Amino acid sequence: MLSWKNARKMGHRLLSATLRCRQCSRPAGELVGFADLSLGEARFLPLDTGFMPHNLGGELRCGRCAGQLYLDDVEPLGRSVPLDEAGGVPFARVMSGEVEMAGTSAA
Ligand SMILES: [Zn+2]
Repeated sequence: MLSWKNARKMGHRLLSATLRCRQCSRPAGELVGFADLSLGEARFLPLDTGFMPHNLGGELRCGRCAGQLYLDDVEPLGRSVPLDEAGGVPFARVMSGEVEMAGTSAA
């Protein structure tokens, strides 16, 4: 299960992270969310909607190679914006496999 690391120390700060694959090391996209909220409430901004992460047995996997994903480059953002303005989709919907980006379902 993915979660922010050391988030408790950071308090209510906006963090950004790269969701990266352990296997092919390609980034799936960026996450933006508050350290003191669950990762499910963060926003996910996919880099390539043709390769969305998918849920495999309760674990989020790489859209290209099905490798395990992890949070890379977690860092606080200097500014604080409402998450609605960060764009993207709620990460909880990605984790539950609810989000299929436009184009992927047409085939
Ligand atoms: Zn991969």
